[in-house]
Amino acid sequence: MRSSLLRVMIVVSMVMLSATSLRAQRLEDLPRIAMDTLSTGNSNAQVIIYTNNTWEFYFPGLDSLIAKNVYNSNWVTDQVFAYKGTSVNDLPASMELSLFSRVGDYKCPVVGRVTSKYGIRRGRNHNGIDIPLKLREPIYAAFPGRVRYSRYNGGGYGNLVIVRHDNGLETWYGHLSKSNVEVGDYVVAGSVIGFAGSTGRSTGVHLHFEIRYQDLTFDPERIFDFETGDIRYQNFVLDKSFFNIRSNASELLEDGEEDIALLATEDGEEITSEDILANIEKIQEAEAKKLEPVYYTIKSGDTLSRIASRNGTTVSELCRLNGISRNSIIRAGRQLRIK
Ligand SMILES: [Zn+2]
Repeated sequence: MRSSLLRVMIVVSMVMLSATSLRAQRLEDLPRIAMDTLSTGNSNAQVIIYTNNTWEFYFPGLDSLIAKNVYNSNWVTDQVFAYKGTSVNDLPASMELSLFSRVGDYKCPVVGRVTSKYGIRRGRNHNGIDIPLKLREPIYAAFPGRVRYSRYNGGGYGNLVIVRHDNGLETWYGHLSKSNVEVGDYVVAGSVIGFAGSTGRSTGVHLHFEIRYQDLTFDPERIFDFETGDIRYQNFVLDKSFFNIRSNASELLEDGEEDIALLATEDGEEITSEDILANIEKIQEAEAKKLEPVYYTIKSGDTLSRIASRNGTTVSELCRLNGISRNSIIRAGRQLRIK
């Protein structure tokens, strides 16, 4: 901020000097000297006005991005995965990530209805979300960052752009009709990184969007409300459990509590609190069924002991259920409760 202010002050004094000496000249003949900066709707972008009546965009934030180590280490540009040596076990239980510090430092890549959520879909992991779009609709960088990957991906993504961000997150944009960036480009939030398409394993024009941390996915709906375009947090607590494909934003929003796996079965299937509640309900239903009375119609010649043995119960149980004694007379045609 301070450096851009300084820049403006230098520019202004230069203009004042040149204005006196060049007063007689036509505007288009003036030398191209920066004269002023204007703010834009995007806090990352300013417009520099030149003395010869031209202008260009200036991105003050980009200077500070370039020096960052996050854009140099694990920097792989020909493969989608960049952190092959690291594992989920190496990560802390949770991390607090700053998503943005100023309004304009984030932009929902597209706004629309999520038609396919993060989770297991037809037996496969769906590592992101899908939003249907019109062909060639622009798709925006979610945060400032640097393009790590931009090429056709044979694994199903089609034309894929991956942008890495300051906080280590990466955003993935798949099935593009065309990329609008090159590897190594620095982008601001809202830069058009490409255009909607249906390349790769896709059945219609849509954006497949993922957010990853060290190659690991979590539900992008934890960060963006795609229907409104709003971001959910300024500082996001990324819990390790979010990397589970079964862990998604909707359960978090429904009951304000994460459905964390509590146990694992012998074949490795995880049991969540939701599963346990469902089981308890099942047991309760079965118990309730057991308590439902069952009746037997007494036939002529029946005795309590014969009825008991035929129905897998005892005489004393029959007496208890029907409020009778062993010596009570039972009559054919009457109902006797046997359960
Ligand atoms: Zn998808």
